[in-house]
Amino acid sequence: MIIDCANDSELAAELGTYLKNHYIDVRIGDASVITTESNLEEIIKSFLEETKRSGYSLRKIDPTNILLAKEVPIENFGFFRCEMCGYVVSNEEELLTHRRAHGIQLL
Ligand SMILES: [Zn+2]
Repeated sequence: MIIDCANDSELAAELGTYLKNHYIDVRIGDASVITTESNLEEIIKSFLEETKRSGYSLRKIDPTNILLAKEVPIENFGFFRCEMCGYVVSNEEELLTHRRAHGIQLL
């Protein structure tokens, strides 16, 4: 699995330490890219919660690539984004409909 921290080397270093503390073998390469043998989606979510990086989101680009980056506030341009998967819709009603697809009622 490859975790791309979008050139945020501070984030990459902190996440690398966090994962090592959880006994996960990781390599931090150039350009803030972390490679690992394990599937880390869940633990990265915990990392973002524990370090209170609420402005960051985890995007699964494909089964082995994850992009970890700060949210761009597209909401300011009249779009709405699903908090859970990053899906973008053009109005709030569409977003509510989309959220139901995740099977969870949000606040
Ligand atoms: Zn969604």
